[in-house]
Amino acid sequence: MKVGIMGGTFDPIHIGHLIAASSAVEAAGLDEAWFMPSHIPPHKDRAPKASAAQRWDMVCRAVEDHPKFKPADVELQMGGVSYSVETVKRLCELYPSHQMHYIIGADMVQFLSKWFQIDEIVKRIGFIGLQRPGTALDLSRLPEHIRQAVVIVPMPLIDISSTLIRERATTGKSARYFVPDRVFEYIEVNRLYEA
Ligand code: ATP
Ligand code: MG
Repeated sequence: MKVGIMGGTFDPIHIGHLIAASSAVEAAGLDEAWFMPSHIPPHKDRAPKASAAQRWDMVCRAVEDHPKFKPADVELQMGGVSYSVETVKRLCELYPSHQMHYIIGADMVQFLSKWFQIDEIVKRIGFIGLQRPGTALDLSRLPEHIRQAVVIVPMPLIDISSTLIRERATTGKSARYFVPDRVFEYIEVNRLYEA
């Protein structure tokens, strides 16, 4: 089984995440894409605005109608700061026969060599990289052994981020169409991201 792991804060999950995963499924022939919210993201200086439970609820709502998309609570179950090296080791214990790839946007590809214990990570898991506005998708600066672990797949440029959605909300602007309908309803009902 070939699985793509879409890790993220998902504060909130939006159509950029979904189109990225769907592009990876199509281009790399993945059997499934797992959406795995981080517990505490190591690389962000601010705590997520939505709680872990709310981010999980939004992910579940976003993926429920795609037969190959699944929510994965591996990092939420592990708790603490979600270091990818620990997650990857855990994934290998839980699913030893799966062939796994992280699905990541260009902003994450750019800093791959800075990931904590990246050498341990690339021994165990590959990467599917996608373009994203704001960062050139350039593998040439990565060390050879990391570059070899990355496959680039095409996706349309989608200039949407969770930050944009949160910022828009502070001035009363809607998340409708930036997120799946069921996520939009959840954000409205729970009054997430309001100023
Ligand atoms: P934030 O603005 O809070 O950082 P985000 O939109 O970047 O949120 P994350 O949860 O940080 O979302 O990202 C999870 C993964 O999804 C990362 O690998 C990121 O590169 C990728 N990703 C997010 N949005 C897009 C997009 N519009 N196009 C391509 N990849 C994306
Ligand atoms: Mg981000």
